[in-house]
Amino acid sequence: MAITWNVKMTKTAGICYNEVDRSKASGRNARVELSTKVVDCPARLRDTLVHELCHAAAWLVSGYKSGHGPVWQDWVSRATGVFPELPSIGRCHNYEIACKYQYKCIKCGFSIGRHSKSLDTERKVCGRCLGRFELLAMSARKPTSATTASQPAALRTPRTPAPFAIFVKKNYGSVKKNSQDLKHADAMRILGEKFKEMKTV
Ligand SMILES: [Zn+2]
Ligand SMILES: [Zn+2]
Repeated sequence: MAITWNVKMTKTAGICYNEVDRSKASGRNARVELSTKVVDCPARLRDTLVHELCHAAAWLVSGYKSGHGPVWQDWVSRATGVFPELPSIGRCHNYEIACKYQYKCIKCGFSIGRHSKSLDTERKVCGRCLGRFELLAMSARKPTSATTASQPAALRTPRTPAPFAIFVKKNYGSVKKNSQDLKHADAMRILGEKFKEMKTV
C-alpha cells in the first residue's frame, strides 16, 4: 500500500483512503496520506501512522470500513499490545493543531499537546526516555489579549536557580543582625531594595 506526503493538508495529520480495488485478490486497497505541515516530527509521524494503519488494517485484513468503531479499536489494542510503550492512540489526531500548547521532550523530541499550560515541566518527565519537557511556542491561534505574561516557558529565564532567593539566603542574616526586632516582611523589603540596587549597578 502507498504512503505519501501531502503538502496541502493542514487540518489533519493523516488520512487513510480505503478503496475497492478489483485488481487485487482481496478486492480491497488502502493508501495513507500524511500532512507535511502537521506531521513535523518523528513522534507525530509514528502516532499518525499507527492510527492510520489501524484504519488500513480494519479494511484490508478485517474487511470493515467502520471509522473509529470496534474493528479499528481492536487493531489499536493489537498495536498497543505489541508496542506497549506507545502513547495512547486517539480517535482523532488533529489534536496537534487544535492544542494551544505543545510540550516537547528535549532529549528524544516526543511531543504532547495540552489545551492549557497544565503540564508541570518541573515534575513530569517523558515516558519514553525520562527527559524533561519544554513548552514550545504557541500554535497559530491568536493570544486572547496582549498579555506578555503568557509567554511560553521555554522563552523565559529558567526558574532555578532564582537569583533573588540565593541573594536572600546569603544576606538575610546580616540584615536581621543590624536591627534585632526587624519584622520578616521589613527585612524582605530591605533585601528587595538592596537586590534592585545591586542589579542596576
Ligand atoms: Zn481515524
Ligand atoms: Zn523523551
